[in-house]
Amino acid sequence: MQVWDYTGLGYTRYNARDVDADVLGCVVENKVLHKSLLSCIQNTDFQKTIHSSRLSSITFPAMSSVTSSSGTSSSASGSSAKLELDNGNSMYAKLVVGADGSKSSVRELARIQTTGWKYSQSAIICTVEHAVENFCAWQRFLPNGPIALLPIGEKFSNIVWSMDPKEAVDRNSMSEDDFVKAVNLALDDGYGPHPRSKSFEGGNVFSWLKADSTSSTHEGFEVPPKVTKLASHRMAFPLSLMHANSYASKRLVLIGDAAHTVHPLAGQGVNMGFADALCLSKVIAEGVAVGSDIGEITLLQRYESERKAANITMMAILDGFQKAYSIDFMPINVLRALAFNGAQYISPLKRKIISYASGNKLLPLFT
Ligand SMILES: Cc1cc2nc3c(=O)[nH]c(=O)nc-3n(C[C@H](O)[C@H](O)[C@H](O)COP(=O)(O)OP(=O)(O)OC[C@H]3O[C@@H](n4cnc5c(N)ncnc54)[C@H](O)[C@@H]3O)c2cc1C
Repeated sequence: MQVWDYTGLGYTRYNARDVDADVLGCVVENKVLHKSLLSCIQNTDFQKTIHSSRLSSITFPAMSSVTSSSGTSSSASGSSAKLELDNGNSMYAKLVVGADGSKSSVRELARIQTTGWKYSQSAIICTVEHAVENFCAWQRFLPNGPIALLPIGEKFSNIVWSMDPKEAVDRNSMSEDDFVKAVNLALDDGYGPHPRSKSFEGGNVFSWLKADSTSSTHEGFEVPPKVTKLASHRMAFPLSLMHANSYASKRLVLIGDAAHTVHPLAGQGVNMGFADALCLSKVIAEGVAVGSDIGEITLLQRYESERKAANITMMAILDGFQKAYSIDFMPINVLRALAFNGAQYISPLKRKIISYASGNKLLPLFT
């Protein structure tokens, strides 16, 4: 992976060999992930019912009835939560896991408040084709937001390009040829020069660390493979940060984007959701092992306290990055360049960044 910015002051390259791995990470399209998760569920031998319908209302035992915007209302039975679906079916559950995304109805129906703000950025996403195969992830920070080129196999890559909302409207409606030109410029020398390879090597501040250098330390800057054409529609999404004030109440937990949404600049949204799911499954298994009620708030709070702390830290880091790259001011640009070069040449730091970003290690506060 190569990360650099428009100032030409620095770049960082990460290589799977830096951490003795085969790959740094995988870019998986949402539809592929959905299909394989569904087939995993279908192939398990525990009892399951899959409803292809949407949630209309939930009633929690300790609460009065809560009703969706469609106006339906219900009441809970015994100590379970009651869920009503828009196909007329209803069910009772010891635990409701709200995994229904940033606009979570479960969160809303449970009256869980959120904290957050909108970024003055939208992201255009699309799939593009190259003339050659792309095996590398590329990210360049531009004055109005980062552009990422993420390989998805063969000669195709996905683009996630954050920018001013007005620019997003214009770039979403420009001709395909003009859009491809704009992408190639953004990933090459548009907005500023290429970083000079090895500009900080040889007698530089990091040279004393050379003995411990990683495989990618001496890799020079490369220009990403050119995009030849668009391979999908373009879609634009407004970007925001959102955090649920609480992740758990009796018979309810929130996971994934229902609990937190972040800026996509580091591609951490899905990793955070996976870490939530892993932690929740561990807590439920511990509860089941000792005969606890899996909807009990004391059990669910163990999930909340572990994940809330880790998610807030990641959100603060990503928000800090977003803000640091919203400023074009020489002293800040130099500080950012130092950070890039620190990550490029200080091998222990580089290995730690790879471990945290790939979700293999918890951030230092939580180890
Ligand atoms: C522009 C952009 C680019 C991004 N790029 C990346 C990236 O490169 N890497 C990365 O890791 N993350 C990225 N993210 C973040 C990532 O998309 C989210 O973190 C991730 O999709 C969250 O998964 P989720 O399952 O929690 O929620 P979602 O993916 O939103 O899934 C929620 C599901 O719940 C369903 N649902 C909602 N309401 C109901 C209801 N009432 N009844 C039944 N079902 C319901 C929805 O249909 C949906 O299928 C990006 C986000 C944006 C906006």
